[in-house]
Amino acid sequence: MPLVVDLHSHSYYSDGGLSPVELINRAHEKGVQILALTDHDETKGLHEARTQAELVGLDLINGVEISVSWNGKTIHIVGLGIDPNNSELQQGLQLVREERIRRARKIAQKLHKCGIENVWEEIVEKVGFEAVTRTHIAAYLVEKGHARDMQQAFKRFLARKGKAFVNGHWMALEKSVKLIREAGGQAVIAHPVRYRMSRMKLEEMVQAFKEYGGAGIEVVTSRYSPHEKAAMASIARRFNLLASVGSDFHFPGSPFVELGHRLDLPTETRGIWEEWPEYKALQAVV
Ligand code: AMP
Ligand code: MN
Ligand code: MN
Ligand code: MN
Repeated sequence: MPLVVDLHSHSYYSDGGLSPVELINRAHEKGVQILALTDHDETKGLHEARTQAELVGLDLINGVEISVSWNGKTIHIVGLGIDPNNSELQQGLQLVREERIRRARKIAQKLHKCGIENVWEEIVEKVGFEAVTRTHIAAYLVEKGHARDMQQAFKRFLARKGKAFVNGHWMALEKSVKLIREAGGQAVIAHPVRYRMSRMKLEEMVQAFKEYGGAGIEVVTSRYSPHEKAAMASIARRFNLLASVGSDFHFPGSPFVELGHRLDLPTETRGIWEEWPEYKALQAVV
């Protein structure tokens, strides 16, 4: 049996629906053996997740998904194997969360102009002042009947062409890689096919990432087509990056996305986990 590895997931400490304990239980039920919890710009869930992971016998990797700006575009960099107590990393994440709050306030102002009121007040009440994401705002818009579902809330209001889109000013790519490395982790480009970049732009970004000391790229996530998977595998090979896999799980019941589901790596790439002690220990058992 191949090992089931899932290195990208969210809890309710960012925009996921489950508590860390529920997330670990679900991952365990789905047969995941190595799981990374990678909340947006937040590591608060790791402690609870670890306690539960030890209880059920699952290997938890300390992770985070950092919001990064590169050439004015938002990209996401996952840190795997980080020390959540590293103070430089925590200071960096704190700044990103503050930008999240500034951006949410601007989005609320734009929504106000569309006749949608109290977004800011409601969000503050519900999520508090921490990793407030567009997912929280989208859920509010659906709840209040301004959109039929999350997809429509993004399309109408929150996505790049939406009426209330605000471009965030996130951490610099170079800094994200540096902070992850200094916290003992490996940096991975999250869901590269989602950035709507040309192949040339994407390769330019990957090149910069590699030069800064980036380690890997997600070659497989839940929603990739076989064609996209092959394209990302070829980028991994070309730039000598390790391959990562992650469902980017947020909520139970979202179509095609499940913990550990269909995350097999193309044979020509090398899994980023293959040198990890967690992996070697599991191999030894088999
Ligand atoms: P943020 O980091 O606050 O800009 O929010 C980005 C998050 O919104 C992503 O991590 C996804 O979870 C979610 N998201 C982005 N686009 C969509 C979409 N079209 N439909 C549903 N969720 C989305
Ligand atoms: Mn998210
Ligand atoms: Mn992401
Ligand atoms: Mn994610």
